[in-house]
Amino acid sequence: MQHNNFIVSEYRNTICEQMMTSMQGFPTSVKVTPIPAFTDNYIWCLHNGTQAVVVDPGDAAPVLAFCKEQKLILSAILITHHHRDHTGGIAALAAAITDLPVIGPRGSHINGITKSVAQGDIVKLTAIGCEFSVLEVPGHTLDHIAFVGHNALFCGDTLFAAGCGRLFEGTPGQMHRSLSKIKRLPPGTAIYCTHEYTEANVKFALAVDPENEHLQAYSDWVASNRAKDTPTLPTDLTTQCNVNPFLRCHDNNVVKSVSQYAGLELSDEIAVFTQLRKWKDNF
Ligand SMILES: [Zn+2]
Repeated sequence: MQHNNFIVSEYRNTICEQMMTSMQGFPTSVKVTPIPAFTDNYIWCLHNGTQAVVVDPGDAAPVLAFCKEQKLILSAILITHHHRDHTGGIAALAAAITDLPVIGPRGSHINGITKSVAQGDIVKLTAIGCEFSVLEVPGHTLDHIAFVGHNALFCGDTLFAAGCGRLFEGTPGQMHRSLSKIKRLPPGTAIYCTHEYTEANVKFALAVDPENEHLQAYSDWVASNRAKDTPTLPTDLTTQCNVNPFLRCHDNNVVKSVSQYAGLELSDEIAVFTQLRKWKDNF
């Protein structure tokens, strides 16, 4: 098997360079397909007709089946964080494919990672002609990273359509900073989340922000997609900035609603985010 199908450059690129990378779409030969796993996970597969890269393979079986069916050679794995439903397939995939590069968060806590990366590193996936910058986005877990490039973001369990990840390890302040980092990406960035939680998230979002017309229209779109069992992902940053209460902690209606829920006068965005996350955890 080939060994040179990815390169990680370890230098801190400027935000400007990141934006340039993000603005270019995928090479025309590259498709991104969700491979469903477990109850509601998507393992995103980037493939160009011969080679494939998967993000967060919690289970090896559906990935191997997809590659076999599409006649693809798996050439690398990207990992966003340590949770089992994102990493459980690494061992079996590495056993099936010799010298498979597994690129993920630093720290030696995830078995099978062959190259650890951190904020600002560039991951070059030469097998499919793609290149991603690494963003550190702690909150859901402390090791959480995201991959941004080609006008797309693979964000694991940090941002969901109309929601965000639970705070298992990080603080609300960390998560709010991570989401703010995502908000600074170009507006049209496609967002590839790893769970189909959108319908439940929209119900909560409507409880928080019932007058939001963007959200009302989005709710109808989500319901019609889910009725046909069609994924609601990827979504895009502009849509999420319009409908996702976790990206709207500055919005007057969201502030009012969350303050009412908490019985507190909430004066800053992190305080609003903290209470909003608490509300969702108990919703
Ligand atoms: Zn997770």
